[in-house]
Amino acid sequence: MKLFEYEAKEIVRKYGFETPRGVIVKEGDDIRKAIESAGIKPPLVVKAQVLVAGRGKAGGVKLANSVEEAVAIAQQMFRTPIKGIRPSILLIEEAIKHDVELYAGFVIDRAERRPLVLVSRYGGMDLEEIAREHPEAIIKYYIDPEKGLKSYEARLLGKQLGLSGKQLSSFESFLVTLYRVFIDYDAELAESNPLALLPDRVLPLDVRITIDDNSLYRHPEFEATQKERLGELTEREIAARDKDLAYVELDGDVGIISNGAGLTMTTMDLVYEFGMRPANFLDIGGGAEAEHIKEALEFVMSDPKVKKVFINIFGGITRADEVARGIVMALKDLGDRAKPLVVRLTGTNEELGREILKEVGIEPYTDPLEALEHLKKL
Ligand code: GDP
Ligand code: MN
Repeated sequence: MKLFEYEAKEIVRKYGFETPRGVIVKEGDDIRKAIESAGIKPPLVVKAQVLVAGRGKAGGVKLANSVEEAVAIAQQMFRTPIKGIRPSILLIEEAIKHDVELYAGFVIDRAERRPLVLVSRYGGMDLEEIAREHPEAIIKYYIDPEKGLKSYEARLLGKQLGLSGKQLSSFESFLVTLYRVFIDYDAELAESNPLALLPDRVLPLDVRITIDDNSLYRHPEFEATQKERLGELTEREIAARDKDLAYVELDGDVGIISNGAGLTMTTMDLVYEFGMRPANFLDIGGGAEAEHIKEALEFVMSDPKVKKVFINIFGGITRADEVARGIVMALKDLGDRAKPLVVRLTGTNEELGREILKEVGIEPYTDPLEALEHLKKL
C-alpha cells in the first residue's frame, strides 16, 4: 500500500527528522484559516495528495507567492483530476529555496535478497529518467540485512555525493532515519525525491513510502486511511470492486481477462510483446463460475476504450466449461455491442468448453502465442 506524501512525512518527523512546515487541508475546509493557524508563510507550495507517478509534471505541485494565491490554487486543485484522480486532500507547505536536489531511496533487491540504497545528486526527476540520462550518477549500495545501515556507511555515501561538513552530517542522519522507517514499516520502497540540499542541511521535499501489502496486518493504524484511499480508484475500478472483480484500469485498448494474478500479469506482458497495449488487468481468480465470467466480460467490453478482448484461461480449479458458458452468456447479452474476442482455453474440461463455444462461433486456442497472433490481426 502506498502512503500519501503527508503520511510518509509524518512518519519521518516521528522518527526525528525535519520536513518542511505545512498543513493538510480537505475539501470544504477554510483554506485561508488553515494556513494562518498553521503559521506558515509564503512562498507556499500546494501539493495534491494523489498516488500517481509524475504528479509534479501533471500539475499536482504548484508554487504560490501569497496566501491568496495558495487558496486559489488549492480550490482549483480540488476540482482538477491529476491523471484521472481528483485529490481530496492537499498538503500546503512553506516552499523551500534550494539549488541542488538529491535523491535517496531504499528498495528490496529480491534477486540479491537484501535492501539496496540508491543515492544521487540528480534528484527531482524520476529515478528511471536519472538512470537513463545519468546512469553513472546513481550510487548503489547493498545493505547487510543483519547489520542494517550503519552511520559510517551513510556517511561514505554522502561523501560520494560530494557532501561535507553540516550537509554531510545531516545527510547521514537522514539516510539512517529513512532506513529505520523502511525497516520498521516493512516497506518495499522508502524514498525522498527531491531531498533538497540547503546550505547547512538536507530537507526532504517529497517522501514516498510503500508498505508491503503482506505485512499490512502489522500496521493496523492504516486501516482507516485504506478506506479513504478508495477515493483514489477510478470510477470503473470502483464499479469493478462492487462486482467483486480484481480489476485495474490501464490506458491501452486491449481488454484482458485471465485467471490468477501470475497468468494475468504474464498475459499483459505478452500483449505488450506483440506490440499491443492492455486496457486493463482483470483476474477472475480461481474457481470462477459462469456468471462471474459473464460479468467480467460484459464489464470489459462496456469500456469505450476497449477495441478487442483477449481471454487467457489456464483451467485448474477454474473449469473451462464454466468459462465457456460465461462467455456465451455475455456475448448473447451484449449482442451487437460485443467486441472482437480471442480466447485461449486449456485445462480442466477443455473439450467441453470447446463444444460450448461453438454456439457463438469461437474456436479457442490452446497456444497463447497463436492466440496473440490472431488478436494482433484483429
Ligand atoms: P512528484 O512529482 O510527485 O514527485 O512531486 P514532488 O513533491 O517531488 O515535487 C515536484 C517538484 O516540485 C520537485 O522536484 C521540486 O523541484 C518542486 N518542489 C516541490 N516542493 C518544493 C518546495 O518546497 N520548494 C521548491 N522550490 N520546489 C519544490
Ligand atoms: Mn517527488
